[in-house]
Amino acid sequence: MLTVAVQKSGRLSEKTMELLRECGINFQNGGREKLKAVATNFPMEILFLRDDDIPECVADGIAHAGVVGENVVKEKKRDVQVAHKLGFARCRLSLAVPKSMPFQSLADLNGRKIATSFPNILKEFLEKNAIQAEIHEINGSVEIAPSIGLADLIFDIVSTGSTLLSNGLKEVHTVMRSEAILITTPSLPAEAAELLDKLIFRIQAAQRAASYKYILLNAPNDSIEKISAILPGMKSPTVMPLAMEGWSSVHSVIKEDDFWEVIEKLKENGAQGILVIPIEKMIM
Ligand code: ATP
Ligand code: MG
Repeated sequence: MLTVAVQKSGRLSEKTMELLRECGINFQNGGREKLKAVATNFPMEILFLRDDDIPECVADGIAHAGVVGENVVKEKKRDVQVAHKLGFARCRLSLAVPKSMPFQSLADLNGRKIATSFPNILKEFLEKNAIQAEIHEINGSVEIAPSIGLADLIFDIVSTGSTLLSNGLKEVHTVMRSEAILITTPSLPAEAAELLDKLIFRIQAAQRAASYKYILLNAPNDSIEKISAILPGMKSPTVMPLAMEGWSSVHSVIKEDDFWEVIEKLKENGAQGILVIPIEKMIM
């Protein structure tokens, strides 16, 4: 049985459960009040915890793996390792100052008081940059600290920056970037390690599927060679004759990121009737 710690409720919870569902792992009514859930079709158990407790729980062997933000892993300094990057809950940890506070360079932070929920990450950053500033640890609503006189500036999570803006703050320096990661311990029992590998294999298949699309198009036979070069696919595209003489149907996969550029080139080379379809799983 593989035990995985996930956030009980917060910004990671929904995406984490969605990822497990995409991996074909189902749970009986994962009610929020519960502390544990057992998968019905994979030897896996989920522990629902606060994200702050996940690194410790994995380091101590209570869970074999956990899903948590890189920022929390860095802050907690526990003996865990990254098993896989998950690509969601992307954010950055930044220094932000009130709009009225002059800021030219990091040296302006000397002698200032900084409010944060991530004192360890901040301390390391200040030391690395030889800045003497006071760290004031608070657990929530960090962004209001300057306006109530608790601190001069803040060090906090930013994603769009709209929370900062509405609190009269401006971001002045990004200290780290973060995304959700799957963590594990170096001393994993063999059976759990095998199950974790299976889980990661499924996660990769789901992640790949999400970043690729299946594409079908019709093309005159004399442009098949050019089109195949634009659409190499997993090995090479499938080419099938159409009932209409001189035409073929070409099937392949393309990266979502390259999509619009590729479509332009295909059209320039005579492609018609282009269909683009989502992929559910993709195994290389
Ligand atoms: P808990 O109650 O479990 O302690 P929390 O309040 O500490 O939850 P959340 O706000 O749910 O934490 O955020 C969890 C993680 O999601 C953060 O540590 C960070 O990695 C990421 N995150 C936080 N805010 C954002 C955001 N605005 N956009 C994207 N990711 C974010
Ligand atoms: Mg937390």
